[in-house]
Amino acid sequence: MTDRSQMIYLDYAASTPVDPWVVEAMTALMTADGNYSNPSSTHAAGRRSVEYIAHAAGQLASLLNTTEDTLVWTSGATESDNLAILGAAYYRRERGQHLITMRTEHKAVTDPFSELEKRGFEVTWLDSDANGLLDIETLRAAMREDTQLVSIMHVNNETGIIQDIQSIGALCGENDALFHVDAAQSCGKLPIDLAALPVDLMSVTAHKTYGPKGIGALYIADRKGVHVEPLLFGGGQQRKLRPGTLPAQQIVGFGAAADIAQSRINDDLGHLTALRDRMWAGIRDVPGVTVNGDIANSFPGILNVSVEDIEGESLLLALEPLCVATGSACNSKSQEPSYVLRALGRSDALAQSAIRFSFGRPTTAADVDVAIELYRNGIDKLRCLAPTRAA
Ligand SMILES: *Cc1c(COP(=O)(O)O)cnc(C)c1O
Repeated sequence: MTDRSQMIYLDYAASTPVDPWVVEAMTALMTADGNYSNPSSTHAAGRRSVEYIAHAAGQLASLLNTTEDTLVWTSGATESDNLAILGAAYYRRERGQHLITMRTEHKAVTDPFSELEKRGFEVTWLDSDANGLLDIETLRAAMREDTQLVSIMHVNNETGIIQDIQSIGALCGENDALFHVDAAQSCGKLPIDLAALPVDLMSVTAHKTYGPKGIGALYIADRKGVHVEPLLFGGGQQRKLRPGTLPAQQIVGFGAAADIAQSRINDDLGHLTALRDRMWAGIRDVPGVTVNGDIANSFPGILNVSVEDIEGESLLLALEPLCVATGSACNSKSQEPSYVLRALGRSDALAQSAIRFSFGRPTTAADVDVAIELYRNGIDKLRCLAPTRAA
């Protein structure tokens, strides 16, 4: 039966293992026999590094169907979100200081907006429906003459819900507001066609899609009026938008990961859908269990479920050796109920019982079966204990 000594990782929404082919590509840019030179150097070795970086930019640009010159390398989606939000707000501050986002965004988006509020900008925080989806009429009602920036994520990191970025972007365009999308959870996992999407700024990161940690990018559409002010100043690299020596090995790793993702995006989606459906079929009859989000409109790599009358921390212990998340990885330390689930109208108790299962390429049906068994047994056990505790 279940081997409890063996860890089962079901937290791919927090991070993924680096693909061995990506590691190989990166190693070739670090060691003495490889191309370790500074890409800012003008000698032959430096020029080789520049070529590697250009190749990687082509790979990421191809995944997103854009051109290389629209991409700025950053340290990850957190930095891309900051550069997009702070940078666009300051770039357009003479035109107006009203900004719009949602309460259910990642902290890498909500915190820059809170900071802008402190600095005198005005932010409208939109609510979603009970599934986490933004109603386009809610956004339309919030739009003003002086609205300069709207930031809405593509796939929510806690629930997997997919926002309609096509419609949201079209509305932003009609109102001459810039549209930023945090695509940390969807890059390499859902098809993204930036040539067709009305998106001005998009944040992506490598480590959620089998690339290394510490590298991301910000897409800045090549259109009039789309620009950001830099947050960093230094050697002038990347058209002064984000100076600093380019981390060639990280960039090459992101490029390779993007290349792999592009070649197997549909196979990955099929695999994840089968796993998510298997998991839900195995636990949906547990009394009091509910999905946070909407399976019909979600990225299949994430399944977030709450259950009545169960305390999340105890459940997490009962689930060991599963590695899963309660709320989001960034909040679970605080023991606060997830602010994302609270924003969907879940009670504190229900939000606190939430478990996010997230699946990846290495996940097998057998892993899911163990997760189902542990989840069912864990709840049974905690429910048997509950009356004695209350007495
Ligand atoms: C992981 C994540 C981030 C942060 O990305 P890093 O590359 O780790 O900085 C931002 N937004 C969302 C939605 C995420 O899932």
